[in-house]
Amino acid sequence: MEGHHPAVEQYLETVLELEEAGIVPMRARIVERLGVSAPSVSETVKRLEREGYLTLDEDRVLHLTETGRAYATSMLRKHRLAEVLLVDVLKVPWPQVHEEACRLEHAISDSLERHLVELLGDPGTCPHGSPIPGSANVVETGPLQKLSTVPAGGSCVVRRIDEHLQTMVDRMQELEDLRLLPGQAVVVDGPDDGQVLLSVDGVSVRVDASVADEVYVSV
Ligand SMILES: [Zn+2]
Repeated sequence: MEGHHPAVEQYLETVLELEEAGIVPMRARIVERLGVSAPSVSETVKRLEREGYLTLDEDRVLHLTETGRAYATSMLRKHRLAEVLLVDVLKVPWPQVHEEACRLEHAISDSLERHLVELLGDPGTCPHGSPIPGSANVVETGPLQKLSTVPAGGSCVVRRIDEHLQTMVDRMQELEDLRLLPGQAVVVDGPDDGQVLLSVDGVSVRVDASVADEVYVSV
C-alpha cells in the first residue's frame, strides 16, 4: 500500500486493535477511535473494500482480508517497535510514546524495521505490554482479563494497557504516577463510586472504572 495516506493505514490498524480489545469492529467504532466523521469513515471503508483490504458483512462487521491483516499487523509491529525505541533509546517519557509512535510508524520501511529489531534485541512486547507481532521472544502471560473484572480481594499482575487508553496522555501519566505499569502486582480492594480501589505495594490508590476497563491483567 505504498503511498497511501496514513489515515487509511490507521483504519486497518484500528480494526486489528479492536479485535485485540475484544470489541466487534464496526464503522461506528472507527468513528469513535479515530475521531473522524461517519460519512468519511463509510467512504474510506468502501475504498478499502474495493482495494481488497477488508470486507463488510450483513451485520455491518468489518473483517480484514488476508492482505488487510498482513498490512495491519505490519503497521502494529512498526508502531510497537517505535514505542520501544522511544522509551529505551530516546528516553521519551512513557505516557507520551504512543502518540509519537503513531506518527513514526508510517515512516518505518521494512528494511528500517529489520535494523530496529536488531538494535532493540527483538523485543517481545511494547512498553505498554502488548505483544509485538512476529517477535521470536513471545512473552507468556496466560489468559488476560480487564482489571475492572477482578473481584474484591483478588490479586493480579498488570500486563497490558489498551491502545485506546494510550491515546489519553493524562490518563497514562496517572497510571505511571500510580505505578500501574506492566509487571506490577496489584490487589483489588473493590469498587467505590465509579472508581476501583487498589493496593499497589501496600499503598492504596484509585482509578476510574473506565481506566480499569482498559488495563489488562493476569490473575
Ligand atoms: Zn501504542
